[in-house]
Formats: sequence, C-alpha cells, structure tokens
Amino acid sequence: LEAFLIMSLNTQKSKELFERSRGLMIEGGSSSSRGPVNYGAYPLFMQRGQGSRIYDVDGNSYIDWLMSYGALPLGHAHPRVVEALCQAAASGSHFATATDIEIEVAEMIQRIVPSAERVRFANTGTEATMAAVRLARGYTGKPKFIKFEGHYHGWYDDYLVSSNPQPLTTLGHRNDPIKIPDSSGLNRHALDDTIVVPWNDLGALERAIDTYRGQIAAILSEGIMANMGIIPPAEGYLQGLQELARKHNILFILDETVTGFRIAAGGCQQYYQLQPDITTFGKALGAGLPVAGIVGRAEVMEALSWGGVLHYGTQNASRIGLHAARASLQVLTEDDGAAFHQIWRIADLLCNGLRELFKELGVAAIVQNVGPMLQILFTERPAISDYREYCQYVDRPRYQRFIWELFKHGVYTTPSATLHSIVSLAHSEQDVEITLAAARKVLAHGTN
Ligand code: PLP
Repeated sequence: LEAFLIMSLNTQKSKELFERSRGLMIEGGSSSSRGPVNYGAYPLFMQRGQGSRIYDVDGNSYIDWLMSYGALPLGHAHPRVVEALCQAAASGSHFATATDIEIEVAEMIQRIVPSAERVRFANTGTEATMAAVRLARGYTGKPKFIKFEGHYHGWYDDYLVSSNPQPLTTLGHRNDPIKIPDSSGLNRHALDDTIVVPWNDLGALERAIDTYRGQIAAILSEGIMANMGIIPPAEGYLQGLQELARKHNILFILDETVTGFRIAAGGCQQYYQLQPDITTFGKALGAGLPVAGIVGRAEVMEALSWGGVLHYGTQNASRIGLHAARASLQVLTEDDGAAFHQIWRIADLLCNGLRELFKELGVAAIVQNVGPMLQILFTERPAISDYREYCQYVDRPRYQRFIWELFKHGVYTTPSATLHSIVSLAHSEQDVEITLAAARKVLAHGTN
C-alpha cells in the first residue's frame, strides 16, 4: 500500500504526446471533456487497462474509478469479454445485415428489462435518445417534449440545453427557466419545442404540462441525475412523473444510458419499479464497445417501421459489440445477482469511507451516490437535491484540484465535478483502502 502511495508521477511521455496531438486534433483529442478543460496543461495518455487498473504511457498505474464513463461494468479486459471479442472478430467484425447475435442480446434485454417489448440497436447514447425523441413525436404527432434542468442526454441539438452549471443569476425564475443552449451552432429553432423544467419537483412538472396541454409528446428524464454530480430522485418522484405522463397521455422516455445494466441488471426501472414507454441504453450495454439500444412498448416502437419514424445506421447492432454485450450481460446476471451484490458492497465501503474521512478531517464535502454511481461534492450543504442547488453551492474548482492530486497517488477518476465515479465488478476492498489512504494524504496536506 505504502509503495503504491509514494509513486512519484513522471508524465513526460504524456506531455510529449500532447505536444504532438494538439497540432493534429482539437484540444489534442476527440472530445473536449478529455482535454485541457478537465486536465489542465495536458491529459494523461492511457495505454492499457486490466481489471480495476489503468496504465499510462509513462508506466504509471492507477486505480480507475472512471471506467470509461461507465462503459465498463466488469472493469478492463474481463476475460469473458476478451474471449467473446476475439472469437467474434476472427469470424468477421460487422456485416450490416440481420444477425442471430442481435436476437440473442435482444432476448436477454427483454428478460432483464420487462418494459423492453421491442428492441432496436444503435451505437451511442446520443443516437438512441435522439431516436427516442423522434419516435415519441412521430408516434404521438405532438411537437414538444419536456427536458429537465441539469440533465444531459447527449449532444443532439433538441436537448442540448441547460445541462451545464451556470451562475444562478442567469437561470431565470424556477417556474419558468431561461433555456441556456450548451453549444453554439445549434439549429436556430432546435429549442423551440423543448420545455425546460426543474427536476425533483412534481409541482413544477404539473404546471408545465398544464401550460402546454395537448402539445407534449414526451417527458424525457434521467433516472438518477448523473451529469450534475449524482443527485438521486426524491422519494416517489419518478413514480409521480410516470403517473402524470400516463394521466396526460404523454410518453415517458427514461434515459438509462448511464444507469442501464449498472445500478441493477434492470437499471433504474428495476430499482425504482418503473414502466417507461421508451428507454434508451448505451455505455454499459456494450462493455466498452459502442452498443446502444432504444427499447419500449411494442405499439410505440412499431412506429419505427419503414415509412414511419426513420432510424438507420451502418454500424447499428455492431456484431462484435453485441458479442461483448452478451458476455457482459451473462456475467452481470448469473449466480443470482452476485455481481451487483459485490459491486454495491464495494461502493458502500468507498462511499462510507470517504464520508468518515471528510468528517474526521473536517473537510466540507459530501458523497452522493446510488450504489456504484457516486460523486464527491465540495459543499457546506448536507445534501444537494437539484440543479440550482448544485450551481449555487458546489465548489467545482476545488474538486478538480483534489482529483489532480489524487492522480499523483495512483488514483484516477473524472476531474469534472459534474460527472461521477463508478464502481465496477473489478474493484476490490484493497482498491478502496488505497483510494482512502490517498484521499487522506491529499486532504491532510491541505493542497486544496
Ligand atoms: N444520456 C445520458 C444520461 C448520458 O449521461 C450520456 C453521456 O454521458 C448520454 C446520454 C450520451 O451518451 P453517448 O456519450 O454515448 O452519446
């Protein structure tokens, strides 16, 4: 343990690679979140992953709590996934035709997720949610949909709004939020039919439904707010949302890109006992390969048929990705749910350990989590329950400084305070111990 903690971080090769990549790729990589905004001078270039560990190009080893933003529920290079990938690749990676592996994985999803009467495969969470919104509009013939403040569903124009933290003064009244686009270059009318509402507030939702009566195709929601730290739903909130949707003939789209096959085999809808009309999956489904799914009620999903709502994609139902998905879903569901039992046990150890540490050292920080999805929030508040509280009370720069210091002690996770850490099946009690010891060192030295 001590040997792990005194690792001195030589990142010369990462630095040199960044010098090379910044002239080739914008911000040196393929997503702004992997660049300077989160990593400062230069990001760590990663080379290899095994189990709970990730290794950079300079040979430094880290316990990885980022886990590809949740795409690796089994950790890195799980032998069953590796075997499935090798076998599939050796017989041809992708055909873009009908395949039997599609049926197998669709049947598995149907068994695990009862609302999945029909399944359609795509590649990314963005695509799946984009298709879900189009499907809802196509099926209902209504133009508008509700999207919540602080929720992120991908980078498609219609929902790329109010998902970044902003100064409270810019947000407008809680009952009538100002729509703040998260990007320049959006289609000029993209947000006209997007209704932005505060989350965890049934009264606000009911008022919005009332205001736009008869025009709303869908309510689109994350099940756990996972792009503003971690903010769990208030007790009964999601059930109330579902009831309101039913009562007003509005489709309920549950975005489980982040929660699917992660907090429970059947995701949020199993954990909170929901029956959404449409669900989107991504990330964990493909065990590290780009596989996403749009699933839902048969009658609604039928609208995706030819001549109705268009959904194409050369790479849809990636053959190699679906082989990985099958192996991963098998591991996650065999032995009577042993995998999730283990994942939740390690998550509890980590979250409670961090909470005790903050208390002991008098650090103004809390840990919010639902099972294996957790985030440290530097705040004086005892809890953060919505987007506006997050914007007002969470010290994001302090979080980033804390994580950068953790890197030096061999612990890796997202430096973005709006994202979260993830416990996988590969993480062990020893990983928790090392992480807590590292956090103690960083906090005790007062580097923040
Ligand atoms: N929906 C949610 C809730 C997400 O958290 C994300 C990504 O983080 C997406 C959709 C977009 O998924 P992808 O990055 O695969 O396009």
